[in-house]
Amino acid sequence: MTFKAEYIWIDGTEPTAKLRSKTKIVADGAELPLWGFDGSSTNQADGGSSDRVLKPVFTCPDPIRGGANVLVLCEVLDTDMTPHSSNTRAALVEVAERFAEQESWFGIEQEYTFFKEGRPLGFPIGGFPAPQGGYYCGVGADEVFGRDVVEKHLDLCLEAGLAISGINAEVMPGQWEFQVGPAGPVEVADQLWIARWLLYRVAEDFNIAATLDAKPVKGDWNGAGAHTNFSTKAMREGYDPIITACDALAANAPAHVKHYGAGIEERLTGHHETAPWNEFSYGVSDRGASVRIPWQVEVEKKGYIEDRRPNANADPYLVTRLIVDTCCSALEK
Ligand code: ADP
Ligand code: MN
Ligand code: MN
Ligand code: MN
Ligand code: MN
Repeated sequence: MTFKAEYIWIDGTEPTAKLRSKTKIVADGAELPLWGFDGSSTNQADGGSSDRVLKPVFTCPDPIRGGANVLVLCEVLDTDMTPHSSNTRAALVEVAERFAEQESWFGIEQEYTFFKEGRPLGFPIGGFPAPQGGYYCGVGADEVFGRDVVEKHLDLCLEAGLAISGINAEVMPGQWEFQVGPAGPVEVADQLWIARWLLYRVAEDFNIAATLDAKPVKGDWNGAGAHTNFSTKAMREGYDPIITACDALAANAPAHVKHYGAGIEERLTGHHETAPWNEFSYGVSDRGASVRIPWQVEVEKKGYIEDRRPNANADPYLVTRLIVDTCCSALEK
């Protein structure tokens, strides 16, 4: 007997990578082998030397095919078995191991927008819906668009065993959010990539496209972010480490923003619950700050912080690596 393994990887498309996948039939009991692909079709190689290697790194049940079938997230390697230049996971693994004793946790809020027939779901042909106000966490056919897809996606993530922790309708019609975590940096990032793949895959069955574009509609419409909630063991136990982490993020702001997703200047304008991309600030309860300290955290004098800057289209391997490196280096002193 055999089962189907869907090998999933992140390609080399610039400035925002895409997900790719293909199916391998594997004999029952066999290990998931290394596999190859045509890197010249994914912006990961030239045609003359096109082979790239898929190395399985995270496996979960395939909730779409069911049965013994699996989803297999892979790292991309060159044929000499070193990480390909598009492989941002390998560097995260190193940094996560270096600071493992600080026990970093992440919860990522993934916002996204559904599109159908070239416009956001819920937008009328050639025009705009009623202005923002009633859509966020709304209910009813005049407020909410695509809930059937969202519910299906939530069930699939749960069946896959992902640490999905919630969903909500967002401020712009057709825009939604799911949260993954809390979990360690590598775990949360692997699971977020799988959850993104499941989102695209299930929306495909509804003839809807999901996009992580950070500013899908220009003008007075909210962009899409990936707020990244972060704590270490010390931050979960006291307030001084929380301030240390905020100060460290302040000192390294430009290096972070550069890797927080394509088109970040269009989203972090200082309007629509954002802080300007080129000015760092942090504050309690402040959704207009770069980094928010939730109000309960200030009351309890322990907990976590929310980096509100990452775009929806950010690479969670880059974002979590930068935050662990910056904050854990400062906290270790
Ligand atoms: P918001 O109020 O900003 O919309 P959400 O409820 O959408 O917040 O998301 C908060 C995220 O923070 C969740 O994914 C949750 O699991 C995560 N989280 C909670 N506690 C911690 C913690 N101590 N460290 C890291 N992440 C946490
Ligand atoms: Mn072929
Ligand atoms: Mn949220
Ligand atoms: Mn949100
Ligand atoms: Mn948030």
